[in-house]
Amino acid sequence: MHFDLITIFPNFFSGPFDHGVLRRAIQTGTVSVASHDLRQFTHDRHRTVDDRPFGGGEGMVLKAEPISDALASIHIGLKAGRDTSRESVVLLSAQGRPFTQAVAHELAALDRVVFICGRYEGVDERVNELYCDRELSIGDYVLSGGELAAAVIVDSVVRLLPGVLGNPDSAKFESFGAEDTGNAHEPGAVPPSTHGSGGLLDYPHYTRPAEFQGVPIPDVLQGGNHEQIRRWRRQMSLEKTFRNRPELLEGTTLSKADQAFLRKLREQ
Ligand code: SAM
Repeated sequence: MHFDLITIFPNFFSGPFDHGVLRRAIQTGTVSVASHDLRQFTHDRHRTVDDRPFGGGEGMVLKAEPISDALASIHIGLKAGRDTSRESVVLLSAQGRPFTQAVAHELAALDRVVFICGRYEGVDERVNELYCDRELSIGDYVLSGGELAAAVIVDSVVRLLPGVLGNPDSAKFESFGAEDTGNAHEPGAVPPSTHGSGGLLDYPHYTRPAEFQGVPIPDVLQGGNHEQIRRWRRQMSLEKTFRNRPELLEGTTLSKADQAFLRKLREQ
């Protein structure tokens, strides 16, 4: 999979992409990344990429022409004539559609993603209209540039690519993991996964020592009863989701046992 990043700070990404899973994916050739310096696509002495907003107001706006030229240099034309089923041009924007694990899966199915990193007050809207098939926000807050958002998205997409994580199940059985229907619909059944999959948050993890600052790990994790461990993990996933992200429960398949457990939590 290939990522292009259009930015006024092309060296920004050497830090985030130079460690751990991402670095390995790049080294093994599963992923390639190219940063494109927007200033290279300007034609004036000062390499001007921005201008004042029409209508007045604060700040500056990234101009459309350098971005259009940068896109042309990597053979990206107008959205109207492009096959968006294998590649996507993404505008990073606080006004965008929320970036979620589901969108990460959508992007991971493509061959190529091009990111346009905004700065200042943002990007001339005609770039969005003419070139971008996705406008994505990584959260309800305002960053000073799209570079961090692009790095976040690349990281979460790359770990979904086949062969990138040592254990392919890791990405399936973690927070927001794929729906795990299994036997969840049977009365009282516990889903076969030991994990917080099916759109829930992950359950809590513990490692050695078994006691830390007087706090022991939960007894069930020492007992070796895998059925009990699975049931406990499912309940912890439900509880974390209930306490921190209750809206996620709406879209989750819940067994009768799950529902009974949630009822108890609500009554507390
Ligand atoms: N005037 C914009 C607004 O109020 O929505 C904020 C512009 S922000 C200072 C500069 C750039 O940072 C944006 O063009 C966008 O590329 C990026 N950015 C800021 N917040 C973001 C977010 N939550 N997700 C993705 N990109 C973001």
